[in-house]
Amino acid sequence: MAAAAAELTGMEPLSGIPGSVGGACYMNAGTYGSSMADVLKSVRVYKPSRPVEDGGICGSGAIIDFDVDELNLGYRKSRIADDGFIVLSATFRLAPGNAAMIRADMDGYRERREEKQPLEMPSAGSTFKRPEGHFVGKLIMDAGLRGYACGGAQVSEKHCGFVVNADHATAADDDELIRHIQAEVKQQFDVDLEPEVHRVREFM
Ligand SMILES: Cc1cc2nc3c(=O)[nH]c(=O)nc-3n(C[C@H](O)[C@H](O)[C@H](O)COP(=O)(O)OP(=O)(O)OC[C@H]3O[C@@H](n4cnc5c(N)ncnc54)[C@H](O)[C@@H]3O)c2cc1C
Repeated sequence: MAAAAAELTGMEPLSGIPGSVGGACYMNAGTYGSSMADVLKSVRVYKPSRPVEDGGICGSGAIIDFDVDELNLGYRKSRIADDGFIVLSATFRLAPGNAAMIRADMDGYRERREEKQPLEMPSAGSTFKRPEGHFVGKLIMDAGLRGYACGGAQVSEKHCGFVVNADHATAADDDELIRHIQAEVKQQFDVDLEPEVHRVREFM
């Protein structure tokens, strides 16, 4: 909405992706054929002197500016993730546009998302990355898993590519369901589904 208010065009397809600018850069978030790689100009990062998990965030590090071409942005991957950088700020390259048209485009993308995705229920977004030559939702549906649940975590009835929190799901429920989906899709179609969501630890 800030881009629309500033009459700047280019971010419309990305406008419905929830989260922070730093998270979007780290993930190279994207949708509808567009991603952060298309709109970023440069990013200012903090490079910890040691890995963050070893206390690097507290030590002396360096502040570095990277042009977008130096960030190795790919499908849900980035040098920011690979090298453990912390995004401090980002500069975008957008073009002058008409505020009303930008808002109308953003509304159109939002309506498409609301129609297809289970945005009325809590989720972490698309659970898996798109495997080459397949659609995740269709694979999971064809595996007979529409509505399948582990505890409170459920394969969305509306879009099988989403695991939703149907009833007080725990992280362990989510994890169990993700592993079950991966196993079923592998067994039935010999396709490996790689999670798009990040596990921050193992759940037993
Ligand atoms: C309903 C829904 C729909 C979604 N649709 C999409 C979609 O269409 N396309 C898409 O790509 N994603 C989608 N997502 C996933 C998510 O919104 C994006 O990946 C988003 O960019 C993550 O941003 P975040 O700020 O929430 O980061 P988090 O999810 O909190 O973090 C993601 C990663 O980024 C790191 N990170 C966060 N901030 C920084 C920083 N400042 N510097 C360095 N690293 C950082 C975190 O450590 C973590 O490893 C969706 C999620 C939901 C819930």
